[in-house]
Amino acid sequence: MPIITPAKLLQRNKKYAENHQAFPTMAEVVENGGVFETTLVLTCVDFRVNPDHFLQTKPEDQILVARSPAGRVDDSFVKEVMLFEAFLGLTSVLVIHHTDCGASHFKDANIRKFHKDRLPDHLEIDNMVFGAFDNLGQSVRDDIRFLKTSPYIPNKLADKCHGFIYDIKTGLLTPVEYDDSA
Ligand SMILES: [Zn+2]
Repeated sequence: MPIITPAKLLQRNKKYAENHQAFPTMAEVVENGGVFETTLVLTCVDFRVNPDHFLQTKPEDQILVARSPAGRVDDSFVKEVMLFEAFLGLTSVLVIHHTDCGASHFKDANIRKFHKDRLPDHLEIDNMVFGAFDNLGQSVRDDIRFLKTSPYIPNKLADKCHGFIYDIKTGLLTPVEYDDSA
């Protein structure tokens, strides 16, 4: 496969901009009586997992897409939820993990070792979490629990946090049932 360079991407963007349809600014939306009622979607950074494709998103859906390795929820994602809840208003949060995720192939211990070998004095690396998991499904439940039990997530939004698995072969999303006691 040919390597994509920044220069090639820039060229591609120039071509895209020729037919770009401009979106209204936030000020224009508000001026026209529009309101922001957004949905926040968290998925893996994997290039095979593009929520704009598999959810067929349109700008008027007001879907905010956040991505992290494996689509794992952590403190920085909770901060994103806090930001958008205060700034735009969130109607729901969807956490989507996927089949054949890199996070099910690597181990946190191996990533830590890789970096400890080059940075042996940095003991804090021993405590770093990279989001590897053995059980797809449990990974989603763990992340939904992270959100639902966070003191920073309002109760009304905690009830609107939902987990899914995306199958990269079929393109289908399957809801992951969440049980408080699980
Ligand atoms: Zn992944």
